[in-house]
Amino acid sequence: MKKRILVVDDDSMNLTRTKIILGKEYDVLLADSGIEALVKLKGGKVDMVLLDIDMPGMNGITTFERMKEFAADIPVIFLTASGLEEDVHNAIKMGAVNYLKKPYRPQELLKRVAQEFEEL
Ligand SMILES: [Mg+2]
Repeated sequence: MKKRILVVDDDSMNLTRTKIILGKEYDVLLADSGIEALVKLKGGKVDMVLLDIDMPGMNGITTFERMKEFAADIPVIFLTASGLEEDVHNAIKMGAVNYLKKPYRPQELLKRVAQEFEEL
């Protein structure tokens, strides 16, 4: 069975693009907000989350804190716009070692996701 990845981003273009890249190898779920992400996480099995940090309403850091309350074991790769170093430091402090700078190249994304699954 394919691994299921939840991609969370308020940028619909990036959601669509990421689904196209990952869709050949993985089952991809999309959420355009932190709230929707939490609902989808509670609704079924998810093997990994790609989580945008900069989102209106509930940002990625808060979403991560909330999901840790009930889904602490799911690996998370944070997505961050280039140059937002503070976001990256915050993410690492929260225990998420992995992050990807947007925009990412397809091969880079596939490689990082595969590496993360291998380490589990
Ligand atoms: Mg964003």
